[in-house]
Amino acid sequence: MVYNMDIKTDKGEMMAVFFRRSRDNGLKITPQRSAIYQELIQAKDHPSADDVYKRIIKKIPNISFDTVNRTLLTFSKIGIANIVEGYGQAKRYDPDLETHHHFRCMKCNTIIDFHNKEYDNLKVPEDMRKQFTAMSKKVVLEGLCSKCKRR
Ligand SMILES: [Zn+2]
Ligand SMILES: [Zn+2]
Repeated sequence: MVYNMDIKTDKGEMMAVFFRRSRDNGLKITPQRSAIYQELIQAKDHPSADDVYKRIIKKIPNISFDTVNRTLLTFSKIGIANIVEGYGQAKRYDPDLETHHHFRCMKCNTIIDFHNKEYDNLKVPEDMRKQFTAMSKKVVLEGLCSKCKRR
């Protein structure tokens, strides 16, 4: 497959994956679930359930936090969203299923996506491979984002 960022981030494509995986997993596609997924793929900040809730309530005022929270957990179970590596804070979700890496600001907790071919091609160390089965690889850089660096 040709590496193409536009295809990977195409929202129509992501909605198609959403419909297909929901159907394959016997998950009913409700307007609320669709709206939550749409909100998630629009977000570029790896939002928490609370972040998604605060945004979606503007569109669906009667939705409950519990629904949003449960739905996001379901999305991660059926593989249409990833839970970003946690740091003892609220779970944060990532709709981008393609291989990419993260820069996390240790001060403001912003998580920025980046792509790097060398990181993509990192090999799992042999002793790790003997003991475990790695399903994915992700490099996480930590430090200060450009905003926090300036302060
Ligand atoms: Zn920062
Ligand atoms: Zn990400």
